[in-house]
Amino acid sequence: MKASPEAQLRLLELADLDTELGRLDHRRRTLPENAELAQLSERAAKVRDAITIADTNLADVDRELSRAERDVDQVRVRIEKDNQRLDAGQVSNARELESLQNEVASLRKRQNDLEEVVLELMERRETAQALRDGAAAEGGTVSADEAAITARRDAAVAEIDQQAAKAATARATAVSDVPADLIVLYDKIRATAGGRGAAELRRGQCGGCREMLSTAELNEIRAAAPDEVIRHEECRRILVRTADSGL
Ligand SMILES: [Zn+2]
Repeated sequence: MKASPEAQLRLLELADLDTELGRLDHRRRTLPENAELAQLSERAAKVRDAITIADTNLADVDRELSRAERDVDQVRVRIEKDNQRLDAGQVSNARELESLQNEVASLRKRQNDLEEVVLELMERRETAQALRDGAAAEGGTVSADEAAITARRDAAVAEIDQQAAKAATARATAVSDVPADLIVLYDKIRATAGGRGAAELRRGQCGGCREMLSTAELNEIRAAAPDEVIRHEECRRILVRTADSGL
């Protein structure tokens, strides 16, 4: 393949721009903020689970609590009724009186027990509520962190995009100065040879694979016409001759 030395030199610029574009692409994909956001999203999922569990616990305790309170009320009402009967002197039979008094005594005991249960449940409710509040607070922290890191990530991406757009514009200009068939070859090599399609021959060394060329290879290149497109046998890249090539 033949191409003017100027067009070949443009390939070196193109290779630098492609390296730059690759670097930017890699930076965009490996932004530390993305890893941080992934971690935060795991934390957010855990917080959501914790809140669900806490809500279930609270609902359970609330149900038990209202049942216990209802039981206390029922016992209290019965005690009142019994006391009213006693106070009104409705019961004159000694046996019946004793049995009623016994009932009141056992109801009072039951009331005490139930009130104890209510207290315990209220304590459990407090603990459950504290757990729920803690989870909700952590959820708030996670959301705030997510927002801050997302903003930082977006700013970094915007900056990378800006640099990439500049490099892409420069690339388009460089491409327009190179014959289409040489661009096709360059892109094909670029796709296989580690991202760099062309390299400078500098002081007898290939700038792509860093191999020193043999005397025989250098002699062959010396003999080639300036518009001959040279390939490095070793890495298949297009070797571009410059004043520094050592020929
Ligand atoms: Zn090479």
